[in-house]
Amino acid sequence: MDIFAKCSLFTAAKEAIAAGYYPYFIPLTENEGSEAVFQGRRLIMCGSNNYLGLTTHPKVRQAALDAIRRYGTSCTGSRFLNGTLELHEQLEEELAEWVGKERALVFSTGMQTNLGTISALVSREDVVVLDKQDHASIVDAARLGWGETKRFRHNDMTDMERVLKSVPNGKGRLVVVDGLYSMEGDIATLPEMVPICKKYGARLMVDDAHAMGVLGGGRGTAAHFNVTDGVDLIMSTFSKSFASLGGFIAGDEPVIHYIKHHARALIFSASIPPANAAAALAALHVMQEEPERVARLNEIAARMRQEYRRLGFDIGQSETPVIPILIGDDMRTLLIWKVLFEAGVFVNPVISPAVPEGHQLLRTSYMATHTDEQLDRVLEIFARVGRQVGLIS
Ligand code: PMP
Repeated sequence: MDIFAKCSLFTAAKEAIAAGYYPYFIPLTENEGSEAVFQGRRLIMCGSNNYLGLTTHPKVRQAALDAIRRYGTSCTGSRFLNGTLELHEQLEEELAEWVGKERALVFSTGMQTNLGTISALVSREDVVVLDKQDHASIVDAARLGWGETKRFRHNDMTDMERVLKSVPNGKGRLVVVDGLYSMEGDIATLPEMVPICKKYGARLMVDDAHAMGVLGGGRGTAAHFNVTDGVDLIMSTFSKSFASLGGFIAGDEPVIHYIKHHARALIFSASIPPANAAAALAALHVMQEEPERVARLNEIAARMRQEYRRLGFDIGQSETPVIPILIGDDMRTLLIWKVLFEAGVFVNPVISPAVPEGHQLLRTSYMATHTDEQLDRVLEIFARVGRQVGLIS
C-alpha cells in the first residue's frame, strides 16, 4: 500500500474549490485589522483574533522594527542554548506579574506551549482531564504525554467531578480547560471548578489564548473571576490580543523551572524571534496604558450580542467578543458564509468534524478598533442575508 494513496483519495476540498464554496486559506492582499482586501474588494473583518486591534498600533509596529534593527531577524537557536535574549526574560517577568504568578516561560507558539507544558508534566502515572471542547492543541498535548486522558462534558461540573472521582488514588491529576471557548464564546466556570479540583488534589491549567486582553481587564479568566490563586497554571498565546506570534505558561517557580528543563517543544525548537518578542511586550504595555481598549472591546461585544439576539439569530451561550451564529448544517453554513463574503463581511465557517453534527456555525469575532459604522454595516448585512436564507424572519 502506497502511503500517499490517501492523498489522491482526499477530494472534499477540491470539490468545494470547484463548486466555489471553499472558505479556507483565503489569500488577502491587505489586512490592516478591522478591514482586509481580497482581490481588490474591501471586507469588514469579523473573523480574526486581533481582539485589541494592536497588529497595526504604532508602538507595537515600532517595537518590532527596533528589535530587528538591534538583534536581527532570528535567534537561530533554542532558548536552551544560544536563543535566549534579555528581551525574552524581560517579557517573562512582565507577563508573570500581569497574570499574578511567580514565573512565566515563553515558547515560540501557543501550540508549542501546550504541547511542551502538558507533555512535560503528565508522566505514566498521571491522568490529564480535559473538557470535551478543549482546543486541539490541548488534545494533541495530552496525546503526547505518557499518561491517560479522560474527558468530561463541556463545562459540566458534575461530570468533571465524576471523572476526577474515577481516577485511582496515587495518580497525579491535571485538569486543562480553555478559559474562553474559541468557537462558541462561552467562559469556563472556574469558580466552581477550583474547589472541585482542590477536593481531588487535581492541578488546574487554564488556556487563556482568547481571554488574555479580553477578560479580567485583560489579565484573563482567572482575574475575571478573582480566582487567580486557585488556578495553578495560566497559559496564553501571542497570536491574538498580543498581536504577535508565540506563547507562554505562568505558574509557581518550581513548576516553571521544571517545565523549562523538560518541555521538548521548548528545548528542541528555536526561540521566538526578537521582533515577535518585542511586539508582544509592546502590546502588553499598550494593554496596561490604554485600558479603554479592553473596555471598548467588551462594549462592542455586548452590543453585537444584543443586536444579533434582537434580530432573532441563535448565538448560543456567548458572553464574549466571540459570537457564533448557529446554523447546524455543513452545506448551509458554507452557503451563508459565501453570501456574507460576497456582501463584504469576513467570518469563519466552522463545520463538522471541527464541531459535532448539528452544531455547525459561523464564528464572528470583534475588535476594539471596529468603528460603529463598520458594526452597523455588519448588522445590516447579517439582517438582510439572514432573512434571504431563512435564518431569521
Ligand atoms: N489554544 C487555543 C485555545 C487557541 O485558540 C490557539 C490558537 N488558535 C492555540 C492554543 C494555539 O496558539 P498559537 O496560534 O499561538 O499556536
